[in-house]
Amino acid sequence: MRWLLLIVVTGIAAVVGVTVGWQWVFAPLLGAALLRWSIASLRALVHDARDLEEMEAAPDPVSSDERTLFWCEECGTEVLLLVRGAPRAPSHCGQRMHERTEILN
Ligand SMILES: [Zn+2]
Repeated sequence: MRWLLLIVVTGIAAVVGVTVGWQWVFAPLLGAALLRWSIASLRALVHDARDLEEMEAAPDPVSSDERTLFWCEECGTEVLLLVRGAPRAPSHCGQRMHERTEILN
């Protein structure tokens, strides 16, 4: 069914292109391609903005009675994060650091 439609549309386009001029065939195709590209770009922008809003809207709260340390298994480095930007652990020595939560008295 789709091939039949494509063959019919191609035939009509060839007839129009030969008789009236090829600009009447390619201009609408170019317009449709530009419209599809523009809509896809706007969709990607909206989608990225939504992701950014979700990341900014839900910062990981750092409670005052506990603190989270990250330690590197490879070299023993410990890191105390005061503000946590991303939910995943930071990297050190080429691997993810391990999380350890200490409860303060
Ligand atoms: Zn390390």
